[in-house]
Amino acid sequence: MTETELREAMCRWGRSLFERNLSPGSSGNLSARIADGFLVTPTNSCLGFLEPGRLSRLDPDGRHLDGDPPTKELPLHMAFYAARPSCGGVVHLHSTFATALSCLSDLDPEDAVPPVTPYVVMRVGRVPLVPYTHPGSAEVVPHVLARAPRHAAMLLSNHGPVVAGTSFENAVFAAEELEETAKIVLLTRSMDVRPLSAERVAELEAMFRLR
Ligand code: ZN
Repeated sequence: MTETELREAMCRWGRSLFERNLSPGSSGNLSARIADGFLVTPTNSCLGFLEPGRLSRLDPDGRHLDGDPPTKELPLHMAFYAARPSCGGVVHLHSTFATALSCLSDLDPEDAVPPVTPYVVMRVGRVPLVPYTHPGSAEVVPHVLARAPRHAAMLLSNHGPVVAGTSFENAVFAAEELEETAKIVLLTRSMDVRPLSAERVAELEAMFRLR
């Protein structure tokens, strides 16, 4: 994909996420790796109205080169690229159900999203819970660096989901899958749920390597 195509794809997916109420207001931010750095959605931008020519372009060290200034949550994105050499894109949303899940006090911090369907295991993997830090804080970086080598997706406590993918589009798909799974988990929370067994999860993990 050329940089022009990638810029257009980021705007198209941004609009789609916004129109489906997955990134209300100016929340949520997107990034993608390019040959000589990164493209990132601008600070205070609405994902529904991104312009290809105004996306922030950064050098390989994350320094702003041109376009609008990047999202304040840039440290979160850069930590994924630093820890996962295969990372081609990062999607961070404040989508309702994954964010609601991130606010619950009784989650397993190592495995916050139960494997209720094979798709969350295949496309998202095991999701740890990252301790709360204020949005945009660089204090989130060591928490992400510690988890990202083994996990492509995380829930930020009381904040929302962040998902890395081998491509920008794969990151979007995984973020959508995480949101759908969070919805199922919350809808069935007071019911007698039968999650996939550890053996079935291991089988899927062996079949569908996320990296
Ligand atoms: Zn955020």
